[in-house]
Amino acid sequence: MFEKSINLFNRAQQSIPGGVNSPVRAFKSVGGTPVFMRSAKGAYMFDADGNRFIDYINSWGPMILGHAYEPVVKAIQDYAQYSTSFGAPTELEIEMAELIISMTPNVDLIRMVSSGTEACMSAIRLARGFTSRNKIIKFEGCYHGHADSFLVKAGSGVATFNIQTVPGVTAGVANDTLTCAYNDLPAVEQLIADHQNEIAAIIIEPVAGNMGCIIPQPGFLQGIRSLCDKHGIVFIMDEVMTGFRLAPGGAQERLQINADLVTYGKVIGGGMPVGAFGGKKEIMQHISPLGNVYQAGTLSGNPLAMIAGYVMLKTLKENPAIYKQLDENTNYLRNGLNEVLKASGTPYVINQLGSMISVHFSDHPVINFATAASANNELFKKFFHAMLKRGVYLPPSAFETWFLCSALTNEDLDATIQAAKESLHEILN
Ligand code: PMP
Repeated sequence: MFEKSINLFNRAQQSIPGGVNSPVRAFKSVGGTPVFMRSAKGAYMFDADGNRFIDYINSWGPMILGHAYEPVVKAIQDYAQYSTSFGAPTELEIEMAELIISMTPNVDLIRMVSSGTEACMSAIRLARGFTSRNKIIKFEGCYHGHADSFLVKAGSGVATFNIQTVPGVTAGVANDTLTCAYNDLPAVEQLIADHQNEIAAIIIEPVAGNMGCIIPQPGFLQGIRSLCDKHGIVFIMDEVMTGFRLAPGGAQERLQINADLVTYGKVIGGGMPVGAFGGKKEIMQHISPLGNVYQAGTLSGNPLAMIAGYVMLKTLKENPAIYKQLDENTNYLRNGLNEVLKASGTPYVINQLGSMISVHFSDHPVINFATAASANNELFKKFFHAMLKRGVYLPPSAFETWFLCSALTNEDLDATIQAAKESLHEILN
């Protein structure tokens, strides 16, 4: 079934580290050979061997409207004839900024970058520059990109590969990153008490997607908001996954929590390389050239990324029914999975909010990294491969959320539930 992918993987390893350009793609944690993709359309990806997969990673989030959404593809094609990069400002960038500001709460000014990593890294620098403090608090199992400050108890690939300390991150940098468990407000309070007037920012995934899907417990985010207000700490919500996915205004809107700074990524480029950070004018005005916190990028505001993102975000803004449909479809999937998992007799937890969902094979609630890590992730590996064989592409790690797109049909959802039923039968018997 995967002959061409096996050959491509062998070849790739001769010229690319581990055969991939981003570690989780290597399937190292689930074993086996990564599937090399050739094309994608709507809810499906097609691999080099011609297999079709119902896709639940959706490029790790951005394909809210499905792959190769025609208006986005056409806009990229049309725009490419004018330029692929000017290195000078365009009206399109203003339109993009205005559109994002019109959709999201608490964003007065927004700066484009080229990845989620850059967005989070720049937001941290800005928070440090603004507060004249050095330390940040992040949560175990949250992933904010691969900038040095974030590679401390991080999620995603760092968790998947169980890398405790990342070689190359200096002790000085690591010492400025304080961590505590997700959903543990007293621990946040304690860190703040232990480091009075030292903490520049708290950065969090408002719904975590990099240790499976983890939902903030009632009062957790509100508690952080109050602590930030009380101690003059910048509250950064990393909405790289949740932005424009959970609601037009992201988790800020859906969970009714105000951020001081917010970061976006891949979603706002409709899959093109892009990111952004924005927030209150009071803070954003410290960014160069308004202020002295330096931040820049040759390809920032790249016209092809802008036009792709603009068309996608505009579609989302003008069609709020998409969110309702995404929620309904995810609820349907959740109920179906619930039934087949229950019937299988294996302990499990399904976490879901909006169109983010994940299954942990666990007999206890999964509320943070420790509880995600103590689930039966060996069973997840088997489940992953059994699903893959049946044409369902899940994230190749238990430490990742699944994403739904609006192109999924009822038949796709039924096929996924049926595949889960058969897969559980296969791996548990
Ligand atoms: N923040 C979050 C919440 C993410 O999920 C990711 C990537 N998955 C990033 C930041 C980093 O984004 P990028 O990979 O575009 O650098």
